[in-house]
Amino acid sequence: MTKPERWKAAVEDAMPAVLARLKDYVSRPSVSAQKKGIGEAARFAAALIAKAGGRAKILKEPGANPLVYGFFPAGTKGNPAKTLLFYNHYDVQPPEPLAEWDTFPFSAEVRDGRLFGRGTADNKADFVARLQAVQIVKDSEGGLPCHIKFLVEGEEEIGSPNLERYLKKYADLFRADGCIWEFGGKNEKGQLEIACGVKGIAYFELTCRTADADIHSSAGAIIDNAAWRLVRALASMKNAEHEILVEGFSDGIREPAPEEREAAKKLPFDEKVLRDVYGLKRPLITGKKGTDPREAMVFHPTMTICGIWSGYTGEGAKTVLPKEAKAKIDCRLVPEQDPVHVFACIRKHLAAKGFADIQVEWLNGQRAHRSDLKDPFIRHVIRSAAEAYGREAAVWPNAGGTGPMHLFGRYLHVPIASVGVGWYGSRAHAPNENIRISDLQEGILFLVHLLSGLSRLWPPENS
Ligand SMILES: [Zn+2]
Repeated sequence: MTKPERWKAAVEDAMPAVLARLKDYVSRPSVSAQKKGIGEAARFAAALIAKAGGRAKILKEPGANPLVYGFFPAGTKGNPAKTLLFYNHYDVQPPEPLAEWDTFPFSAEVRDGRLFGRGTADNKADFVARLQAVQIVKDSEGGLPCHIKFLVEGEEEIGSPNLERYLKKYADLFRADGCIWEFGGKNEKGQLEIACGVKGIAYFELTCRTADADIHSSAGAIIDNAAWRLVRALASMKNAEHEILVEGFSDGIREPAPEEREAAKKLPFDEKVLRDVYGLKRPLITGKKGTDPREAMVFHPTMTICGIWSGYTGEGAKTVLPKEAKAKIDCRLVPEQDPVHVFACIRKHLAAKGFADIQVEWLNGQRAHRSDLKDPFIRHVIRSAAEAYGREAAVWPNAGGTGPMHLFGRYLHVPIASVGVGWYGSRAHAPNENIRISDLQEGILFLVHLLSGLSRLWPPENS
């Protein structure tokens, strides 16, 4: 048997135990937003690390959910000067609305080759898959090619409010030379997606208040209206061509590198599928220059009105002049944009346009992050995926979504690639979250390729 054949057999043999472990993990609710099952899930994650032969430690900062550290030492033939870090989280999104689940979200049921349950795709299956891959490489290769660490946090689904505290304090403990991020899966074309970065975010709420009470709408002849005023303020921030007009908003944006553009151009994109899935009624936003939508998804910052409300929104007619109007706005940011600066620019913009009375409240913000696609570790991940899946992966210089990657970049200075065992139908954060068991199996095999190949990327010093 060749090496890859042996690996394949080892993964196949391990699958019943992997599934049993994963079902056990998924059946333990760990909802950070509702403060449910957090301590128990942290202890369970630590126990899984120990069962796989690693050393586990639960770190606890006051007022924060515990964070699990895992360590597997390099084998005697490995390179102890190099470390791979896995980032995962043991918390999950709330399961609501419960009525929309076909089976109870924590019953971890297998149906039609899929495992259903809150936290399967995001992010419990990835954690279990990674531990299994580590175990297989450790056993079949006579030890690991480098040190392997795990960081499993418990607040990812509520925006990782304490991760920076942990990373600052334990930067040495988590020091690594390459990092595999928590999420990922296959796209509609069956290709594995690899994200080497994330967009950032600046989230805020605008409030326009023009009176202390709602007023009979006949007074519209003489009294200004909060809803109209807010709409005008919003319209001043973005024009009909979808260009963001806030001065300073784009300050610091880093031009994409040639290899980043190249990667973006190769991403699959099917306008028809997108149109059908959402029933789109308007043409895509491609700007005056007709930008490629792939490039826009990766490289363009956004400004989105997530919600807007004021006055009477019930059935039938009610003639009222509202005292107040509100809007929630999120801006997805690209590398080197600073969310705090974006926030300041928006306030300045509103004041300059005569809307100084409109309150802008900061809700949250995170910087974008992009790893260097030329980094040898990133290239190793991309190559290993091609080897294990037998086809090229779709490489995102940065995903369109957001996560705390920039903190890892800042405190650990480590190249980061995100891969996982989900698929485009995983329904993360939604009812009927699931993974396909075949993806789980392939995903473990891919990780075995990736881990074992680290002996070539990071050969022992004296070899
Ligand atoms: Zn999530």
